[in-house]
Amino acid sequence: MQENVSLQPYNTFGVEAEARYFTEIHTPEELKAAINFSSSRALKTLLLGGGSNILLTGDFDGLAIRLNLKGISEQPDGANHILVTAQAGENWHEFVMYCLEKSYGGLENLALIPGNVGTCPIQNIGAYGTEIRDVFVRCNVLNLNTMETEDFDLEKCRFGYRDSIFKQEGKGQYIILSVTFRLTTQNHSIKTEYGAIRGELSNAGITEPTIHDVARAVIHIRKSKLPDPKETGNAGSFFKNPTIPLPQFEELQIRFPHIQGYPNGDAVKVPAGWLIEQCGWKGKQIGNVASHPLQALVIINATGQATGKEIFDFSTLIIDSVREKFGIELEREVNII
Ligand SMILES: Cc1cc2nc3c(=O)[nH]c(=O)nc-3n(C[C@H](O)[C@H](O)[C@H](O)COP(=O)(O)OP(=O)(O)OC[C@H]3O[C@@H](n4cnc5c(N)ncnc54)[C@H](O)[C@@H]3O)c2cc1C
Repeated sequence: MQENVSLQPYNTFGVEAEARYFTEIHTPEELKAAINFSSSRALKTLLLGGGSNILLTGDFDGLAIRLNLKGISEQPDGANHILVTAQAGENWHEFVMYCLEKSYGGLENLALIPGNVGTCPIQNIGAYGTEIRDVFVRCNVLNLNTMETEDFDLEKCRFGYRDSIFKQEGKGQYIILSVTFRLTTQNHSIKTEYGAIRGELSNAGITEPTIHDVARAVIHIRKSKLPDPKETGNAGSFFKNPTIPLPQFEELQIRFPHIQGYPNGDAVKVPAGWLIEQCGWKGKQIGNVASHPLQALVIINATGQATGKEIFDFSTLIIDSVREKFGIELEREVNII
């Protein structure tokens, strides 16, 4: 147990914030001991995975726990599938690469997403037409009310767009210890229809892509479009793409003929990046914070000196201007601490 520890290395925004207490855990027993330490002193607890989806808006007057549970195990599941279980502290991209090396299919479109395996169910991570729920079987969690472990299956997780029970009524009540995925061992389902994947593959002269080709294409596209947190502090998309009722979308179409929208049940999903760009934010910098010049949805720690409060205030200005221009309320995707 360490005291007054800087959390700057543990968040991809690279903002400075101190934790009153800090510990790294490697086993479920160490985790239980840390939780006991925290509850016996009535401390708040902050779980840290890769720190790529949090914004620390000030010092944390509690116990920050960095989860370092490691290990991967496999179990065959019929002729065409395998169940792969990874512990929460495994790095997500390294896990995707591990599966690709073994030619297990299902995660290739999710390559290069920062963060850890244990966090992937929390917002049902997704990219390039795939979400974690497409391959999710169960996660094993520590229930903080009972201090017992239990399994959450697909139904119990109630996955939605960048959403799950862990962001809703289960928030703060469970620690995800491991996640099990059902992947294909042959007859892989290749998804190339989303984003620039097809163009990327055809540029490389690939007409019948493998899962490895798809992963390479995704990695190449992501590297060209998104800032690397090691160089420029950021947490990926700062806002969710809002879903609005069809009549509201049709009314906006009259005023803004170029507005983009994708049908989502009875409603329409509108790209938040487009809305933000239309409000003039793309590439705009205020003090130490900016909207990324290539992707307005990504807020960056432009000078490396930004505080979490500055970034939060910047995001509020964006929300205000999108509301004023379009009457749409943006919701932050990043967890505000
Ligand atoms: C450049 C960049 C690109 C990104 N692209 C994408 C993308 O394409 N798609 C996408 O979905 N996301 C994307 N993200 C967001 C981020 O990568 C994911 O949300 C990722 O799952 C966060 O993992 P993490 O381990 O870093 O979470 P952290 O930031 O460490 O934690 C996130 C939240 O979960 C809590 N938490 C951490 N571990 C646990 C646990 N084991 N049990 C319970 N709660 C826990 C934390 O307290 C916090 O509230 C991107 C981020 C960056 C920086």
